[in-house]
Amino acid sequence: MKRINRVLVVVMGVVALCVNAQVERPKLVVGLVVDQMRWDYLYNYQWGEGGFKTLLQDGYRCNNTIIDYVPTVTAAGHASIYSGTTPAFHGIAGNNFMLNGKNVTSVQDDSERGVGGNKDTRGKSPRNLITTNIADQLLLATNFKSRTVGIAIKDRASILPSGHRPIGAYWFDKGSASFVTSTYYMEKLPKWVADFNKKHHDELTTDLGNLPMGTTITFALAEQALINERLGQGEATDMLTISVSNTDMCAHYYGTHSPKVDSIYWQLDKEIAHFIDVLDQRIGRDNYLLFLTADHGGTHSYPRMTSHGLPSGCMSSSDILAAANAELERQFGIPKLIKEDMGFTFYLNHEAIDSGHLDYDVVMRAACLALQRPEEIQWAIDVAHIDTYPIPTILKERVKLGYFAGRSGEIYIVPRTGVYSGKTEWAASNHGTWSQSDSHIPLIFMGWHITPGETSRLTHMTDIAATVCAMLHIQAPNGCIGTPIFE
Ligand SMILES: [Zn+2]
Repeated sequence: MKRINRVLVVVMGVVALCVNAQVERPKLVVGLVVDQMRWDYLYNYQWGEGGFKTLLQDGYRCNNTIIDYVPTVTAAGHASIYSGTTPAFHGIAGNNFMLNGKNVTSVQDDSERGVGGNKDTRGKSPRNLITTNIADQLLLATNFKSRTVGIAIKDRASILPSGHRPIGAYWFDKGSASFVTSTYYMEKLPKWVADFNKKHHDELTTDLGNLPMGTTITFALAEQALINERLGQGEATDMLTISVSNTDMCAHYYGTHSPKVDSIYWQLDKEIAHFIDVLDQRIGRDNYLLFLTADHGGTHSYPRMTSHGLPSGCMSSSDILAAANAELERQFGIPKLIKEDMGFTFYLNHEAIDSGHLDYDVVMRAACLALQRPEEIQWAIDVAHIDTYPIPTILKERVKLGYFAGRSGEIYIVPRTGVYSGKTEWAASNHGTWSQSDSHIPLIFMGWHITPGETSRLTHMTDIAATVCAMLHIQAPNGCIGTPIFE
């Protein structure tokens, strides 16, 4: 009996080896995220040759990809795309959130230091991301041979996509006008990054956030990563995550379809064309899998909408907070009972409630009523009791999927549809709401094992990681709730 078992084990081992040998994977996965790129931009711009036009023609397009949580903001988006899950699971509850009673940025890590910029800059890491992502799963599936590099102007857009053990994650530090990293990853910048900073000093001192140069410099560094780290040349599948940040930074100042934002998209088109050429030559179209998506969309500004007779509205969460606190002070005699807001999520002031011997539930009810007072706000929700509100299920689910207890505020406000954070006189766009403008994102796959085509079936941001992992036959990230797209 024992011998039969042994024989079985050997046979199964050989079968496993054969199966493993048959697993075919691309040499490189390229994740390209365009910050605040609305889905309709794919079809509204007249693209040149080789960039978006190639993606549209040679790629597989998912035309109805939705973000299933709120708030639809950068850090949450980048974390969700690559982990296939939402803030409720991965913990990146916003660009900022509460951690141990402190307001922190999504990638802030005071146990680390900055590397490569000015002395003693703040450290950053992916430690707040509590689930694995594609890069981590690639490591696990390849006996830790896979290598990932993350590149972006924004720290969070470089750190959160590239997972917990990339060989490098680099982002732009305005103070030192250079690309930097942190001691979480390494003690010293690689020579190729230091050389890049020296060589491009003049460009790096320009206003990268609002100029097409920001896009050019991002892709130039990504190309250097490809070359110097020999990505896609090793024995396991490597990954390069690139995020284009200035599309968002510029739109926050000048608005969708402003000449400044347009010029960045024209440049992006050219940079993508060049980068596809580089990938085709160095790796080969059949050997890399590329996807393009966005971390969220963007709302057209109030003047753009209303000047054409279309509905729009603005809200300011800081004004709403001040008015609500004034009302609560009149009622309870204690100032600042709502401690702070982080966009759409509000935190009650537990210390003030305790020291004033107030009833938490009574203050909560009053706070929700006060926050819901402005006509722009449709609901102010005590999230712990969201199921008791007469709110459509779709919206409840998005609030729940975006809520991470302890990090998110206990109250979530949902503005009326079409209302966004801004002022009526501003041309700037914004995002964060559940509305189509913010939650409908582009999604295109191109390259390895991709047949050109398109679908308008409902797909989800969380399906991206599920699809990449399923195609590569690697385990999906541990918090993944998406479903592979296999048309
Ligand atoms: Zn963003």
